[in-house]
Amino acid sequence: MASQDDKARRKWLKDAYLRAEQAASASLMSLDRPQLEELLDHVEAAVEAEGCDHTRRAADAWARRHGVDLDRLHRGLEEYGGYCDCEVVMNVDPDTVFRPVRSRPD
Ligand SMILES: [Zn+2]
Repeated sequence: MASQDDKARRKWLKDAYLRAEQAASASLMSLDRPQLEELLDHVEAAVEAEGCDHTRRAADAWARRHGVDLDRLHRGLEEYGGYCDCEVVMNVDPDTVFRPVRSRPD
């Protein structure tokens, strides 16, 4: 049977793993949260007005206006399933992207 110390250590390792995983995902998103929310507002308005043509036209237009690197932005959006403008609106959720990293229960 595992001692309390073993259990605590396993829990610590698991938390450390989750923190590293979340940090890796978050680092793929090249925008900070206010920028991402602005991007999503822009893309959502564009999709409502013009529909989605299965590209990231609206997202790219916003990124170019704000000097955001398109390749890095695409990698970040794809990490969350945003392969075209409507998918960006549907799948990229700032609450998920910027979920607070689990902390040790001290
Ligand atoms: Zn689409």
